[in-house]
Amino acid sequence: MPIATVNPATGETLRTFDPLDAAGIERRLALADAAFRGWRTTAFAERARLLNAAADLLEADRKDIARTMTTEMGKPIAAANAEAAKCAKAMRWYAAHAEELLADEHPDRSDVTDAGASRAYVRYRPLGPVLAVMPWNFPLWQVVRFAAPALMAGNVGLLKHASNVPQTALYLEELFTRAGYPQGCFQTLLVGSGAVEGILRDDRVAAATLTGSEPAGRSVASIAGDEVKKTVLELGGSDPYLVLPSADIEAAAKTAVTARTQNNGQSCIAAKRFIVHTDVYEAFRDAFVAGMTALTVGDPMEESTQVGPLSSEQGRTDLEELVDDAVEHGAAVLCGGGRPAGRPQGWFYEPTVLAGITPGMRIHREEAFGPVATLYRVANLDEGIELANDTPFGLSSNVWTRDDAEIETCVRDIRAGGVFFNGMTASHPALPFGGVRRSGYGRELSGHGIREFCNPTTVWQA
Ligand code: NAP
Repeated sequence: MPIATVNPATGETLRTFDPLDAAGIERRLALADAAFRGWRTTAFAERARLLNAAADLLEADRKDIARTMTTEMGKPIAAANAEAAKCAKAMRWYAAHAEELLADEHPDRSDVTDAGASRAYVRYRPLGPVLAVMPWNFPLWQVVRFAAPALMAGNVGLLKHASNVPQTALYLEELFTRAGYPQGCFQTLLVGSGAVEGILRDDRVAAATLTGSEPAGRSVASIAGDEVKKTVLELGGSDPYLVLPSADIEAAAKTAVTARTQNNGQSCIAAKRFIVHTDVYEAFRDAFVAGMTALTVGDPMEESTQVGPLSSEQGRTDLEELVDDAVEHGAAVLCGGGRPAGRPQGWFYEPTVLAGITPGMRIHREEAFGPVATLYRVANLDEGIELANDTPFGLSSNVWTRDDAEIETCVRDIRAGGVFFNGMTASHPALPFGGVRRSGYGRELSGHGIREFCNPTTVWQA
């Protein structure tokens, strides 16, 4: 894949970039290694000062970087602005909380004595340069949710961003440099995915985190496994959205539209499979389809646009093939189902709802990365949970109910990294984010996230 900015709303190539050559990669790895030696011993107060400075700059740059993101990957400009603001907030959160999250852990006095020690505790020490392989869909947020905790923990970052968001990738390095970070603390490597293996195998790289597709995750994890290096994987999802009779159906349908179409439908935590109790099926279906049909699809630079283009031509082709396969196998198209009329350029796709899904259809098991929802009818909660779990993924899940017993059952039985009730899945710095099964392993955000790339060192004194 060439490293280039190609506007998905027009298909026009705006800028291309030469990838780093071997000497360029070597220089940057050496710089990361040298930076880590100093950065690992800095005080939390100094790390917090710099991260807050980066947040200030990001807030000041918000409108410009939002336009860059929209130009590179097509998200509606209002969402791009919100993403930049969310990043600044997360930076401030980690600046305020990292020291307490990584405070030494002291076992009970009796356990210290039992271990034969006069003093014993755990100290969270950084690991070193961490390679972050990141996707284009939230091109700032995915990086910041790695970088803020990693830098606060005393690690340094090496970013290999997706090849279609090079200007956002370069902005991120520049942001940390302008904030005053020592040279080498956060670097962008403009390289294609073919260069990842060599970088990951380099002794100076301590660990890796990847957010992206399953094949990319499998490749990075197996190379890291071969090198015995720690990884965190945030992969795909096909989150269920279960609607039960006690729910506020109007609210459930309204939120369902946003949950499916946020970021032009290209979000790992978008609700993708809508599983509705038979008693409220028709009411939910009608309101949901009406909401999907009413969305404004158009130029992502317009404030009023709710759904922009898909990020690439290939992305749209993949989605079209999934929908075609479902229709060939008997799915009913309740709305959408094709390219919008009057938009010959750009990679637009209509908000779509499919019903009559059967297990033989690809879309039943694969992730639909675009504004396409699948609708299922179930007879009761047990059937709903069984269908919710009938997926290779396990990222997050959504359930609409006002019944406490149903809530407890879902918390116990839905196989996912999150269960969100009466709302849609969203990430927050204070709450862990990640999945199980084919959605990956490890966690980002919260104390869980910052400790992933730490060495919890046992300190024992006789
Ligand atoms: P992708 O192709 O896997 O790309 C993601 C990143 O991995 C890019 O930087 C890409 O580089 C790199 N990459 C691709 N193949 C690689 C390989 N074999 N070895 C090393 N690096 C490789 O993902 P995508 O299709 O663009 O992104 C969408 C996927 O990401 C969806 O499945 C989505 O659900 C998932 N996602 C998950 C989360 C989460 O938090 N769980 C969040 C967002 C997205 P190039 O661009 O140079 O190919």
